Amino acid sequence: MTGRLVTCRLQEDDEGELGAVANSYNALLYALHDAHRVEGQIRSFTQTLSSRLDLTELGDQALTLLQEISGAQGGAIVMDRQAEWKILVSHGLNRPEQILESQLFHVRQEVLQRRIVLPPGVTVDAVLTHFIPADVILAPVLHHGLVLGWVVLASSTPFAEQVPRLLPLLMQGLGLALNNALMHADLQRVAALDPLTNIYNRRFGMKRLEEELSRAGRNRSSLALIMLDLDHFKRINDTFGHLSGDKVLVRTANVTGGMLRDGDILLRYGGEEFVVVLPGASVQDARDVAERIRFAIGHTSIDVGGEHALTATASIGVTAMSGDKPVSPEELIAQADARMYAAKAAGRDRVVFEGNFSDHT
Ligand code: GH3
Ligand code: MG
Ligand code: MG
Repeated sequence: MTGRLVTCRLQEDDEGELGAVANSYNALLYALHDAHRVEGQIRSFTQTLSSRLDLTELGDQALTLLQEISGAQGGAIVMDRQAEWKILVSHGLNRPEQILESQLFHVRQEVLQRRIVLPPGVTVDAVLTHFIPADVILAPVLHHGLVLGWVVLASSTPFAEQVPRLLPLLMQGLGLALNNALMHADLQRVAALDPLTNIYNRRFGMKRLEEELSRAGRNRSSLALIMLDLDHFKRINDTFGHLSGDKVLVRTANVTGGMLRDGDILLRYGGEEFVVVLPGASVQDARDVAERIRFAIGHTSIDVGGEHALTATASIGVTAMSGDKPVSPEELIAQADARMYAAKAAGRDRVVFEGNFSDHT
């Protein structure tokens, strides 16, 4: 049904047959009007959500609309992420994480919409008070029969009777939109990550480096870059096999990643070459980090199934920009690369920065 519904009520004040007909006619009119409004709500809900690909934005928008339609003062959307329930968004709920700790989501088979009672700690933050909701609906978000998540809607008064009937229809649109957003997020992740080591690949990592460099330029802050290349890696492959070589690469990524702070960037630059970007770090800061990484790699033994555990070493070049003159990503990489090769030439398993050699003993 499209367009505006024309309403034309009949007078019901006739006590005879005409009055009864007018009565039924008006009831039908109201029902039609209601159906038209509901259809409009569902259509605009689905249309609004279908263009969103960012998961959190989508969840936020969906919950806002669901609250508007249902009259709920508080609510949350809970999603299944990597086999764990996570709160995607919550509005107006005090301590929403307690919902996850309760038994509500532990019964996976039960996928029907139902009325629930929230755990005692979860209240709704109204304008001036907290209140324990009088009515809470838990509605599954399904896509092709799979539960993608749950919507929790909490109200201070019982929901209007059409709300539980309307929700499953709205959930269909939400399921479709959430599924699209999930696929988009997965594709983005796949496009950004190196499949072996699960760290950024070169293409995405270099994009991040560019972003961090322009940010450092804008803020006139420093940025350091570390180039790391495993020593005699070909020999490791030749002696222990390619799969053991792969294990060494994964370990190197994990060990290096473990030495970094939030905001630092680690990428696989090539086969056995890794780059670390340290926003805000000076060359001295980066040298210390590089030394710790070099030490950790050299002291990590990797079980390759034989009698002896295998250890690898790395040669590392460090460079930095101070923020007062612009440097391109290529210049920074070239300088770190040159220093990494200087470390190779000086005997490997060492860190080189600013032309000075730091010995590994
Ligand atoms: P150097 O100390 O001079 O760096 O010697 P190297 O043997 O490490 O140097 P080179 O760059 O010649 O060798 C790198 C080797 O890394 C060659 C290539 O076969 C191997 N390699 C590249 N990618 C992978 C991978 O994904 N897995 C494994 N196992 N080996 C890889
Ligand atoms: Mg190499
Ligand atoms: Mg190498």
